[in-house]
Amino acid sequence: MIVTYSRNVFIPLTRTCRNSCHYCGFRKNDGKVMERWEVERFLASAKNATEALFTFGERPDENDSVKKWLGDRGYERFVDYVYDMNRLAISHGLLPHTNAGVLERNELKRLREVNASMGLMLEQAVELECHSESPGKKPEVRIKTIKVAGKLQIPFTTGILIGIGENREDRMYSLEIIADLAENYGHIQEVIIQNFSPKPGTKMEGAEPPSLREMIDAVRCARELLPERTAIQVPPNLVDSIQPLISAGANDIGGISEVTPDYINPEHPWPQLKKIERSLNGRYVLRERLPIHPVFVREGWYGEEIAGLIEAYSDDEGYRCLR
Ligand code: SF4
Repeated sequence: MIVTYSRNVFIPLTRTCRNSCHYCGFRKNDGKVMERWEVERFLASAKNATEALFTFGERPDENDSVKKWLGDRGYERFVDYVYDMNRLAISHGLLPHTNAGVLERNELKRLREVNASMGLMLEQAVELECHSESPGKKPEVRIKTIKVAGKLQIPFTTGILIGIGENREDRMYSLEIIADLAENYGHIQEVIIQNFSPKPGTKMEGAEPPSLREMIDAVRCARELLPERTAIQVPPNLVDSIQPLISAGANDIGGISEVTPDYINPEHPWPQLKKIERSLNGRYVLRERLPIHPVFVREGWYGEEIAGLIEAYSDDEGYRCLR
């Protein structure tokens, strides 16, 4: 069996976010945005990577400092700046994958042109206390964005966060919702089963992270519910060993960076690929993919702006070519 991963450079464009999730250690709300030259420096450091991972707070342009920063540089909306930075990544030979939070149809449509895939965690499809100060985490709002991405045929990453106050029934319900979206639109390329990891200084710093047993159960259920073309991803830097989760049905370990940390979980460094490979005991083959999964490459789910890079980087099966 094949387990996939991609090589990325992680670009946290801004930590300003309109939401305030009780477990988040990423949000700073300082109104700062990475300048073009800073983005360029990250892109230039990318080494072997094929993916430029743009992750940032949701709707940062609701913040006055960000609005002014954008206006000073001739941008009306944050999404316009993201579009330009995506294009910059392409000019550096990298395929963008953008996690922008909830977006409107016209915004998704614009970013589709310059992204190999995009992402939005569902987290959970039920209302939870940890999201009581996060308007963008209302389940119906997130489901709508994922649905519109499906109508626009954007290869899409979503997932659930385990251990944030939900129970097993809620998890199953959330996975069923994702499975329905995947069946209806065929665009869900991967579903992340992510364990909550407590962060000091947050409202949930004392909360218990989920057990390995709960993680295994969630991976098994995801594999049963989701279509075969949808990969199940587990984060290798957040669990002690990925082996039991791979045995339960996970077949992707997401993006690994040789040059940038996981800015969402900086206390958890990426494990070395060799170490991951050893932990799989020769029972699974680790294969590199692009930020767009092999089946979506084979089926041509990409636009003209990025076609050249995707075709140059992929082999006949849609994995990263080793030329
Ligand atoms: S988890 Fe994401 S949406 Fe929630 S506050 Fe942090 S950056 Fe914003």
